[in-house]
Amino acid sequence: MRIAAARETEAGELRVAVTPESCAKLTKGGAKLVVESDLGASGWWSDEAYRATEAEIAPDRRFALEKADVTLAVRRPTPEQVGQYRPGSALVCFLEPFREDGVVKALAERGVSAFSVELMPRSTIAQKMDALSSQHSIAGYYMVLLAAERLGKALPMMVTPSGAIQPARVLVIGAGVAGLQAIATAKRLGARVEAFDTRPVVKEQVESLGARFVEIDLGETGEEGGYAKELTDEQESRQREGLADRCAQADIVITTAQLFGRPAPVVVTREMLGRMKAGSMVVDYAVESGGNVEGSRPDEEVSIAGVRVIGLRNYPAMVAVDASRMYANNLSAFVERLSGPGKDGGGLAGELTIDTDDEIVQATLVTHGGKVVHPMIRERLGLGSGIKG
Ligand code: NAD
Repeated sequence: MRIAAARETEAGELRVAVTPESCAKLTKGGAKLVVESDLGASGWWSDEAYRATEAEIAPDRRFALEKADVTLAVRRPTPEQVGQYRPGSALVCFLEPFREDGVVKALAERGVSAFSVELMPRSTIAQKMDALSSQHSIAGYYMVLLAAERLGKALPMMVTPSGAIQPARVLVIGAGVAGLQAIATAKRLGARVEAFDTRPVVKEQVESLGARFVEIDLGETGEEGGYAKELTDEQESRQREGLADRCAQADIVITTAQLFGRPAPVVVTREMLGRMKAGSMVVDYAVESGGNVEGSRPDEEVSIAGVRVIGLRNYPAMVAVDASRMYANNLSAFVERLSGPGKDGGGLAGELTIDTDDEIVQATLVTHGGKVVHPMIRERLGLGSGIKG
């Protein structure tokens, strides 16, 4: 099986889909790796490091992709790049299938089998392939560092002959994978941390990290497949009322609230910002999927009523080396699963055979055999939920 990786073309994307370590692992399993020259230039990995794993270094993107059976990438291609993939080959990446209709249709027409890592089931068996979790985790860590670096205030309590400094107060809204890592990071830096999430099960996890869980009675909330359900208008306004005071007390607010396949909920309104202390910071994780904070703008720091609001589109890329390591591990586990024992019993050394009866393939495969096959994406595109149409 020939596995390729080309340089990421999206501005600011510093992560890579294969590292020398993952190349070595896949090569050992029998795959033939081809990586575009300078693939890892921004992530500390030279062509030499890849070559040492027996990977072939391709002089350009076209050369890397044209004979690939499987292409591994961080970002989805642009519609113009789709023609570079070989019909019948597979592509595994953050496909953004709930936003990038044009790319999905183009990949189907090209006959590429495109897998979306965002659709990985949140199950024990899929855990090591769960790229959303690995990247959320790095993002949660970095969001706190970003706020701490810009705050102009220390996070831990300090008692010195020159006076005592009170610990900074951090509020984390949304305590999923990113939020829990943000809580852990803020605690390690010595802040006083509290957190809120609509899923009640999270309370125990928040408390086990030594943070306080903010109790707001929203009535029935619940979850589906590990993901939060959307709140009603009434519940949303109760949540905002409950959190306004907590925001007003905070030096740093980190928001990580997301809804699967839907725009992110607004959890901090302009009115809430207006009640916060001048100079305090809000870091919005969801700026690319609609924004958790009213007025946040992608890749900018804006001042709203004296509060500094930041929303980066790509937090994991700020810790590109470790984000890449984790992502590459997720992808090699996924490719190993894809290759299965192989029709010819060859695994990674054999032909690519996509087993459409496999539960993980079914969950993540968006286009296959010239069609959009994922029921949710078919419905989104108005193609009906059945695969045949
Ligand atoms: P996510 O990125 O979809 O959402 C982030 C958080 O936002 C979630 O905790 C969600 O409850 C919360 N949220 C949604 N609306 C909100 C609102 N209005 N106000 C406050 N918070 C709100 O989720 P995620 O972090 O990727 O994962 C969700 C959960 O799935 C995890 O916490 C974990 O329990 C579970 N999970 C399980 C596995 C596994 O079993 N292998 C793997 C990954 C995640």
